[in-house]
Amino acid sequence: MTGLELPQYDASLGPVELVVAGAGPSGLAVADRVSQAGFRVCVVDPAPLAAWPNNYGVWADEFEAMGLEDCLEVVWPQAQVHLDNNERFGSRYLRRPYGKVDRARLKRRLLERCIAQGVVFQESKVEGVVHGSGASELCCADGVRVPAAMVLDATGHSRKLVQFDAPFDPGYQGAYGILVEVERHPFPLDTMLFMDWRDDFTASDPQMQAANRALPTFLYAMPFSPTRMFLEETSLVARPALGFPELRARLRARLAHLGVVVTAVEEEEYCLIPMGGVLPRLPQRVLGIGGTAGMVHPSTGYMVSRMLGAAPVLADAVVEQLCRGRDAAANAHRPLGAASEAEAEALSAAVWHAIWPVERLRQRAFFTFGMDVLLKLDLAETREFFAAFFALSDFHWQGFLSTRLTFPELIGFGLSLFVKSSNTARLNLLRKGLPGLLVMLAGLTRTIGYQPKGLPPSRS
Ligand SMILES: Cc1cc2nc3c(=O)[nH]c(=O)nc-3n(C[C@H](O)[C@H](O)[C@H](O)COP(=O)(O)OP(=O)(O)OC[C@H]3O[C@@H](n4cnc5c(N)ncnc54)[C@H](O)[C@@H]3O)c2cc1C
Repeated sequence: MTGLELPQYDASLGPVELVVAGAGPSGLAVADRVSQAGFRVCVVDPAPLAAWPNNYGVWADEFEAMGLEDCLEVVWPQAQVHLDNNERFGSRYLRRPYGKVDRARLKRRLLERCIAQGVVFQESKVEGVVHGSGASELCCADGVRVPAAMVLDATGHSRKLVQFDAPFDPGYQGAYGILVEVERHPFPLDTMLFMDWRDDFTASDPQMQAANRALPTFLYAMPFSPTRMFLEETSLVARPALGFPELRARLRARLAHLGVVVTAVEEEEYCLIPMGGVLPRLPQRVLGIGGTAGMVHPSTGYMVSRMLGAAPVLADAVVEQLCRGRDAAANAHRPLGAASEAEAEALSAAVWHAIWPVERLRQRAFFTFGMDVLLKLDLAETREFFAAFFALSDFHWQGFLSTRLTFPELIGFGLSLFVKSSNTARLNLLRKGLPGLLVMLAGLTRTIGYQPKGLPPSRS
């Protein structure tokens, strides 16, 4: 990230109000917003100026709603799904613009805002955190300790600080991607290929064909020009994850079948996204967002838009609690910060509750049920599933993918999906979905009359 100079953390200036571990999209978005409210924020990351490694794809309307449309490098007016090569399912056009995020621009935008607001940076790994007397101290690998009123873990899927009460047992989205120059390709430039489930590329390799039919993968492709594109062979969700060698072999076979000759590889992406799994302990002293806080869509692996949408919610809750702490300190004529461990725990609990209210917990339970079904589908069943899914109304399929549907709307979504499904697919949904449905219902009964734990007395 050339031309940017990061203000360095200076221990002699005393504690900060918020220390953020991780300079990914979520950490920077929260740091920006909390500092805008006039609080001192420090971001700790081993390489805060390094480019983000992931190629993010998003639905363009999600970024437009957040005023981030200029952070989209390319927008395709439509996307396409190929289910099979014959008349049975064929292909679908999704009339919803899809964009590739300009990750350099988005990072620069967030960093510039942070710098302008006075956010300071410590270039180091975070190793741990200690709490005591209502305050916290973030311990960095370089020996520096950053004292702070509140700590946010935004270290993505490394989940460095947040704690879990149960073993973390997610499904995994695995993908092998390449940004390449090719001699030519068959993909129309105005269409993003969202999913290609066709398996004719395995016809000459019975072993690959059997493996793909049992554990299917699809091609995701972004054509930028007649000779440049991003291609990714993706396993939607599997437990355990499908290995990268298998994903790479399938991508190569697919490209050979399509007659796509790669002339140069600009980037290789090894993508492994934990999906679903238990949430971190709710609440807990360290705050979390993005990968650390269970915000990945458990049925799709998407997270960027959800997490950028959650950042202001979390930041505003942090600001509210910091103001509350500041007022209490001023009234008691004592230094800034919580007066006790119990008070600090209550401030954190209020922030956790803001990002995981009961409605979101129910929504996530439904998405996790969706993941549970997807984990069990073979190629034929996956095609049946997506044939019904993309026959749903825009409100339902778009709302599901964008985490917009409320729980009652998700019930409507589930019923519509059932109605749109073929008889075989209905039978599969019943057979393979029933255990997950029972688990979801059992989990939901615990949210009836849900009282968030640990809130300050005036709010619970
Ligand atoms: C290859 C790949 C492709 C993806 N593609 C998409 C996509 O197309 N669309 C989508 O919506 N989602 C996608 N995702 C999901 C993705 O994980 C999130 O959207 C997003 O990156 C999560 O943001 P985050 O800020 O929570 O974490 P991250 O982006 O992972 O950022 C975490 C930050 O924390 C830092 N960090 C880690 N450990 C420490 C430590 N100990 N101390 C200090 N700092 C630390 C890292 O350096 C990094 O800067 C993809 C994920 C991967 C891995």
